[in-house]
Amino acid sequence: MIEVQDIHKSFGDNKVLEGIDAVFEPGRVSLIIGGSGSGKSTLLKCIVGLHKPDQGRVFFDDQEFTKMDFEEKVPIRKEIGMLFQNSALFDSMTVEQNIIFTLDMFSDMSRKEKIERANFCLERVNLTKTNKLYPAELSGGMKKRVGIARAISMNPKYLFCDEPNSGLDPATAILIDELVQDLTDEFQCTTIVVTHDMNSVMGIGDYIMFLYQGQKFWEGTKDDILRSDTKELNDFVFASPLMKAAREVIK
Ligand code: ADP
Ligand code: MG
Repeated sequence: MIEVQDIHKSFGDNKVLEGIDAVFEPGRVSLIIGGSGSGKSTLLKCIVGLHKPDQGRVFFDDQEFTKMDFEEKVPIRKEIGMLFQNSALFDSMTVEQNIIFTLDMFSDMSRKEKIERANFCLERVNLTKTNKLYPAELSGGMKKRVGIARAISMNPKYLFCDEPNSGLDPATAILIDELVQDLTDEFQCTTIVVTHDMNSVMGIGDYIMFLYQGQKFWEGTKDDILRSDTKELNDFVFASPLMKAAREVIK
């Protein structure tokens, strides 16, 4: 479980987060949704420790992450898998080297164990026989899957994905969502996905929080979303004709 309490974060005069409280349960995919610039990535970065919140606390299970020093955070960092918005693969490294890089940093496995683990993770994301390819030789969906393979390489208890679907065609996007859902079930991870993709919301939104003007403006499930009467949320969600049609069907 991850809990955030009263998270505030500003950049200069730009108040991005103004008191966010939320609980993210294990074994389910929690979504952070909101318009572009609403602070989704900033919140995720505050949770993983890439940003220091100006105020507020972050707990990983019962441990207060925000009051730990660098050394104290290391064991929790090892339990975090992160898929960045642009996949963030190292272009000069092969697929296999990209995954082994993480294992080199965080594990004390032997060389042979690292290769076996890389193979296991690549198999898990359905990408065998790509070990020796470079990122430039992969499609967008394949890069995302390598990013996911790397994120799960340390068997994470906490899995974070920032816009895992951005730049993908709808069919590939759904495959990535299903993969994130399956891995969450399999490893019982506490998974947080940042997205503005409505297909993801309707596909994997066990718990959804909507960020608006620095606040957690709304929270609920994908079923609640279709019935919501919160104008700010509806303006965001039902901007898509497909979502409008879905609402008409269930009315
Ligand atoms: P989202 O992910 O929802 O699109 P972000 O969290 O990336 O939004 O950004 C929220 C706001 O914070 C934006 O106005 C953005 O310009 C600002 N911001 C994000 N990161 C930084 C940073 N490192 N320095 C200054 N401003 C930032
Ligand atoms: Mg973002």
